[in-house]
Formats: sequence, structure tokens, C-alpha cells
Amino acid sequence: MSSPPDSVGGVDFFAHGGLPVPLVSVEEAQRLAASSFGMKVSAFPLGSQQDCNFLLQGDGGPAGVLKIANPAFSRTEIEAQDAAAELVAACGLRAGIVTHAPVVVTAGGGPALARVLRYLPGGTLTGGGYLAPRVVAELGGVAGRVSRALDGFAHPGLDRVLQWDLRHADRLVGVLAEHVRDAELRARVTAAAEAAWRSVEPLAGELPVQAIHGDVTDDNVVCSVADGLRTPDGVIDFGDLTSSWAVGELAVAITSVLRHAGAEPCSVLPAVRAFHAVRPLSAAEAAVLWPLVLMRAAVLVVSGEQQAALDGGNEYVNGALEHERACFEAAVSVPAAVMTTLITNGAGFPRPRPRVAVRAPGVDLGRCVVLDLSVPSDAVDEGAWLSPALADRLALAALDGEGLDGGADAVVTRYGEARLDASRVLAEVSPATVATGIDLWLAEAVELGLVPVPEGLELTLSCPGTLVPARVPVHVGLRVAGGPDVPPLVRPEYAAGWLTLTADPGPLLGLPVADAAGPGGDLLARRSASFADVQEHYYADPPRIERGWRQHLAGTDGRVYLDMVNNVAVLGHSHPRLEAAVARQLRRLNTNSRFHYAAVAEFAERLAGLLPSPLDTVFLVNSGSEAVDLALRLAFVTTGRQDVVAVREAYHGWTYASDAVSTSTADNPQALTTRPGWVHAVDAPNAYRGRYRGSDAWRYAVDAVEFIGSLAAGGRPPAAFLAEPYYGNAGGMALPDGYLAAVYAEVRRHGGLAIADEIQVGYGRLGHWFWGFEQQGVVPDVVTAAKAMGNGYPLGAVITSRSVASRYRDAGYFFSSTGGSPASCVAGLTVLDVIESEGLQANAASVGSYLKGRLEELAGRHALIGAVHGAGLYLGVEFVRDRGTLEPAAAETMAICDRLLELGVVMQPTSDRMCVLKIKPPLCLDIAGADFFADALDRVLTEGW
Ligand code: PMP
Repeated sequence: MSSPPDSVGGVDFFAHGGLPVPLVSVEEAQRLAASSFGMKVSAFPLGSQQDCNFLLQGDGGPAGVLKIANPAFSRTEIEAQDAAAELVAACGLRAGIVTHAPVVVTAGGGPALARVLRYLPGGTLTGGGYLAPRVVAELGGVAGRVSRALDGFAHPGLDRVLQWDLRHADRLVGVLAEHVRDAELRARVTAAAEAAWRSVEPLAGELPVQAIHGDVTDDNVVCSVADGLRTPDGVIDFGDLTSSWAVGELAVAITSVLRHAGAEPCSVLPAVRAFHAVRPLSAAEAAVLWPLVLMRAAVLVVSGEQQAALDGGNEYVNGALEHERACFEAAVSVPAAVMTTLITNGAGFPRPRPRVAVRAPGVDLGRCVVLDLSVPSDAVDEGAWLSPALADRLALAALDGEGLDGGADAVVTRYGEARLDASRVLAEVSPATVATGIDLWLAEAVELGLVPVPEGLELTLSCPGTLVPARVPVHVGLRVAGGPDVPPLVRPEYAAGWLTLTADPGPLLGLPVADAAGPGGDLLARRSASFADVQEHYYADPPRIERGWRQHLAGTDGRVYLDMVNNVAVLGHSHPRLEAAVARQLRRLNTNSRFHYAAVAEFAERLAGLLPSPLDTVFLVNSGSEAVDLALRLAFVTTGRQDVVAVREAYHGWTYASDAVSTSTADNPQALTTRPGWVHAVDAPNAYRGRYRGSDAWRYAVDAVEFIGSLAAGGRPPAAFLAEPYYGNAGGMALPDGYLAAVYAEVRRHGGLAIADEIQVGYGRLGHWFWGFEQQGVVPDVVTAAKAMGNGYPLGAVITSRSVASRYRDAGYFFSSTGGSPASCVAGLTVLDVIESEGLQANAASVGSYLKGRLEELAGRHALIGAVHGAGLYLGVEFVRDRGTLEPAAAETMAICDRLLELGVVMQPTSDRMCVLKIKPPLCLDIAGADFFADALDRVLTEGW
């Protein structure tokens, strides 16, 4: 039975049983807007579960939202909602406040209250797209601000009984569960709600009650869009306003996150922290939050099914069913106790103390070896962590006598340790790596049945019975008696929650308490406190990386990332041949190059042999910056001049001279205005964007030639022209055909030198060419190399002709204490050996062209990709907001990199516009890695960032 629209009493859902949406046609809505509110508009239906809403479009754009209230709601209730919207607007959020006060109209065949609300532009978070942690946090922050704005708000219209009021959730699930057609789902929903309610009920009396919006969800927060990214800052639809538990505001908000792409329970934690920062949760509220999420998810499922039964034709209702089930499945995917610990930890309440079963051991296992399978452990060196059954092999070897005379009696792994052997490469979701118990291998079978287990805990063994057999791994767990089943390994995001449901079984077996913790304190804060902050780190919240292997990097939590950015590690990380060669040399001799030893002669010979005539003479230094500095010094002394022509948007190093010729504003925003007078910059020869594009790009050379000529004519002929021979900062773009030939010829015509900075692009990365200048069909006078030369060992070189090199004497004396040391020469020789023996340049060519093909295919489907640049394994994906204007999508690029990290890929932006993905992986990248990267990027571009 509907109440008359002008009545004052609040709705009672349980009296109505269901609230079908009033059926009002577009024509009726338009007529009504004109007759009741004097608005000449077109109406467009908006989805709603209970009311009937239309977007009103006037000549000048959106004119408002016409809301025809469900006849079940009274005028008093609607007035309360409009008053609440005013309060929320007053606290600085945008809110859907009323612009045309409610009037009684005849609509959908009966009397109803209609009014017009302000339209808020920007769009909501509706749909299933990905929500970044930043956006989730903002959603929580909005919920917190709404909660504060409504705290203390009193109105008779709050007195109503809604199906969405979580205080009635268990009753509601009881009443509506019968509508869930799938019996198995019905049973699970009912059971989950009952279990959750058992956690809520005892604390119900401690939960503050106030006015709540009750529906601050993805559908009802409106975003401002700035710089390509959306930020929730507004709230619409106050139709579920009621008096209820204040914490319900947050529970409702975070449940709506769970239906989004890639979301899982831990995805909501940023919202909880943000809400807590605005409107602090009490301990009781934190304790019931996840159970309330479960209740909300159960309410959504049963209500959605009921509404579908009532209102099968309502597309909005039918479409929502799938999302409601997704929320429920996500909410039950982790035990509530695990989430409650994460929530209380995040809210800063005292952490539950880890349970330690300190008891007299019930058994004596004898001589015991503890396996260390953590990321920094030597046991996982050289990719051993990837071989199946590593722990079993190590354990059996220890039982058989390795490392302990006569063999160990028992071998155990460590409780709470993030085990790298449990990890996986190329995983979009973090694998379960953290041990919730220990694995045990015994030389002889041992009976554990008599171990005295402390009260409240129970011992679990993965073998049948309590007799642990000899020489097979048995998982030993100690968990809260009657608590949820605990998997032997859990994902790091949830480990803190799971571990509070367990205890270290070690002490029961006579073992010391496991200490799997790394260095104490907040390492990032320690870094910031003592390291100059201009030495930035990747990512705002970086994983702690303590191991690399081939194209993979491992965080200390056992998560393994595909490294798509490390151009220094050409061979891949931790190459055993390099490690062995350098270690052997360090054991034998490491001194300076004024001593006479073989390695420096061999390496210099080898490097010179890689370059065409007349580049036959080598200087060895420690870095790219030093190499560029030295190359410039050579040009100065050779020519007796001081001026240098460099290219805009380039980076060449941090030392005085190499910094002077660095024009990239990404590295130094003042770069162009602070160049010393001897540096002259010509346009970046960017054929994609810039002055000349596509087939016009040849004009860059004409301009540069003219510029050099004018310098000479002005009495300042340059000492050198310096550039990367392949345009690195743009993401690896070939220079226009003939560019270097023309510019080198001109600078030489005036007696200057041509310097090629091969520090990024040289050494085989381009696949088809070992050096970038080969692509241009030229031979420079001076070449600088570094980065790849040592695969991470500090090493740089300048290679030039003997005549240029010998001019250095005129400037004085050259000596570098560690440049060309025996160890660095051995490193350099081994890198060249491995590039050759493993065919890495050819691999860069084949995997690179495969990857470029995949990226070009993505460009056909995703408008954000403006271009795919590069060759070999130096590729760039350039993101633009508009393919016509080429407006750089910088904020989007950074957000995409952050999302890629979540999906297991390390990637960073480059270019002066920071809108290009710099794809420069180790040259051992394989097709599987290329596919993983392309798939992850496809996913991000599809689901959002
Ligand atoms: N030149 C180029 C083209 C570079 O990319 C870099 C480093 N990014 C350098 C020079 C400086 O090298 P380093 O960091 O080894 O000093």
C-alpha cells in the first residue's frame, strides 16, 4: 500500500514488501517539467531502483534532474533529503540540492511528488571499470565528509524503515532470501549474513547512530575531471537518507568498490583509511565494518533478486544483479577476521599481538636445519627459486648431510616468511607466498600427537594422523581453534590478517621463534632522512626490491615483477657469468689502470673493434656523465673552441659539462632558460610532434645546418654537434632519414666534431644495429657509451680516433682511479661475451619487432595510443588525449604505470611531456614476457587506470 504523497509518516519497507519504480514516460516527464516547473526541456531517463529520474536537457545543456519520488515516500522524508543535501553542500562537497521544490503531480497513473535537483557535471564512478587506490581513497573521504556533515542532523523525515538500513539487514535477508532463484547462492548468502550478524550483534549497542546518506556509492559520487583524471567530490541521490549506524555510511561505500575490475577486499583499504582520517572510527566500528560489508553485499543480492522478480522489465535492476553478485563473491573471498585485522591495522588501532605458543616443547626433533627461502636468501640464487620443489631438494640434501656432518634430523621452513620459491613470474595477481605455518622434513618418523598445544589453538598437519613420516614434507600449522581454515601460504596483502589467526608452531617443536622480519623501521623514511631527496625513487609507494633474475625483479614480499624499464641490465639481472667473472677478478686483483694487466688491453681492443675506422682509441671511465664530459673536453681541446650545438629535449648527464648540454625539461624544468652561453640548442628532430611532422621531417636537418652555418658566420663555429643518434628521450624514435649525415657534414665543414651519445641506444638494444649511428649511415668522430657496458657495474667509455684522443695531452693529464680497473674491464668483457654468446642483439630484434607489432595492434583499438615508436627493445608508446591535437596524456601515463605495477610490470614514463612509456627491458626478454606486458597494457587501457 502506498502512503499518500503528502503524508508525514516515514516509509516502512517491511510493511510494503517491495517498491516498484513508478512508470513515467519521457513525454509525460517533459510535460510535467513544463507544467509544474516552467522548464522547456527534453527528458532522458536515468536509472534508479526506486524512484523515477530524468535528466532534463535545455538549450544551454543540462538543466537539472527531474525526480518523481516513489509514492511510498512521504513529503517529510523528501524534505529531510533536500535539507541533508544542503548540509552536505555547505561542507564543501558538490551535492544534488533542490532547485525546484516538491509539488504533487499525477504521474505513472497516480499522485506523486516531483521536484528538480541541480545537475552535477563530471559523471560518476558507475560501471565496472577499474578504480585506482587514489580514487577509492577519495570515495572513502567523501563518505567521511558526508558523515561529518550529517552528524547532529535531526528531522522527522529520518524516521523510516528502509531495506538499506544495515540495522535491519539480517531481518531483510531473512525476508527476501526466498527470491534468490539459485539455491546454492541463496544458501551461501544466508549463511554469510548469519555469520556476519553474529559478529555485529554483540557490538550493536556501541555503534553511534546518526543521519546517514546511506548510498555514497560508485553510482552516487560525482567526479571532477582535471588533467585527464577524475576525482570524486560530489554526492547525488539522497533517497536512502535515514537514521542508522554511522559506520554504515562507510560499509555501503566500500562494498560498491568490490564490483569493479580487478577489485578485491584489500582494494577498499584506502577508502577506510581516508574515511578514518576525516571521521575517526571507534574500535567497535572498525570491528564490525567487514561484517557490515558482508551484510550489505547480502542485502544487495537478495534485494536485487526481489526487485528483478517485481520489476523484471527494469533494465537497471537486471543489469545490477551481476554486479551485486560480484560484490558478494568478493566480500566472502577472504574470512571476515582477516579483513578486520587489516582494517584495524589500517585505522591505527593497537595491532593484535602475534600469538606465540611458548610452551615446553613436546618433542625433541634433534639436530635441526632451518631453510631460509626469503627473497634475500642465498638459497634462491641464480633463479633456483623457479625450479620446482626447491625446498624439498634442499631439505633432503640437508637430511643427507649437506652442511651438517652426519645429516640433520629435521629440516624446517620459517613461519611468516615470504617465500620466493612459492612465487611465480608473469603473474597479474600476487601469488600466495607468505607461510602461515612451517614445512617439516624428518630423517625418522616422529609422533606429534602428544605435543601440548596451548589452549585456544589447534595443531594442523598435512599428513593423515599425527605420525609425521620420514623424508616427506609435512605442513605444520597452529591456528585459532574453531577459526577459519588457514591455507599454508597466503598472499602478502592479506598476510597480516591471516597470521593473527595462527601462531608459530616452531616453539612447540623445540625450535626458536621464527624471525622472518627484514630490517626494522620504515625503510623508505630512513632513505628520505639520510639520502638527498633530489635522488628520487620510482613510485610514491614503491615495492622493496631486493633481487633480480633475468628480466624479473622480486619484492621482499615475494611478488615478482616483469622489468620492462631497465636498460642498464642488458643481460638480465644477476647474470651468473658476470657475477662469477667479477667476483674472481675482485679476489685476484683490482687496481687502477696505470698498472699493467691484461684486462684493460683486451677490453680496449675489443671495444675499438666494435667501431668502424677511424674510431680505434678508447678512454675508460665509470659512467655516462663522465663519458659525455670527456667527449666535450676532447672537442674543446681538439678544436680550440668553446661552443657546442646540442638537441632540445635531450639528457646527457649530471656533471657540469654533460648537464650543460642536457636540454630536457623533464629532467630539469629550467633546462632551456639556464643553459650556459656556449650551449646552443636546435629543435628536437621529432617526426611525430614538433615543428615538422611525417614527410616534412627532413626540414629539421635543413634548420640545424642553417643554424650551425649562422653560428660560424657569427664568429662562433661550434666545437661539436652532440646528439643521441636515435632519439631516446622520445621513447626511441629514429631521427629523420639523412639528419645526421647533413648535420655532421656541416659541423665538420666548420672544423667541429660529431659526437654520438650511444649511452642509451647503443650496445645492441636497437636489435638491427649495434650502434644507433649505423641506422643513420654515418660515422661520428667521438662515441660515448656506458649503461649496458657493465650491466650495472659502473663503466663508461669514450671511443674516438687516435688523432683526437692525442689532443687531450694539450689540456693536461687524464686519469680515472677506477675507470678501466681490472674488475670493470672484466665486467665489460663478460658483458660483450654474453651479448654475443646468448644472441641478445638478435633477440632484441626478434622479440622487439614482435612486441612492437602487438603494441601497434593495441594502438588500433585504444584511442589513447597516439604512436608506437622505436626499434628492437627500445620502444615507446606515446599517449595523447586527442590524435589531432596530440595533447600529451601525462597524468594518464603516470596512472597507467602505477596500474601496471599492480599487474606485475615495472614501467615508467619518459619524454619532455612524460607521456611516453619507455620500454627498455633487459635484452633477454622473451615472447612470453612481451605478451605479458602487451596483455597487461591492453587490460589497463580497457579497464581504466
Ligand atoms: N647520456 C644519455 C643519453 C643518458 O640516457 C644518460 C643516463 N640516463 C647519460 C648520458 C648519463 O649516464 P650516467 O647516468 O651513467 O651518468
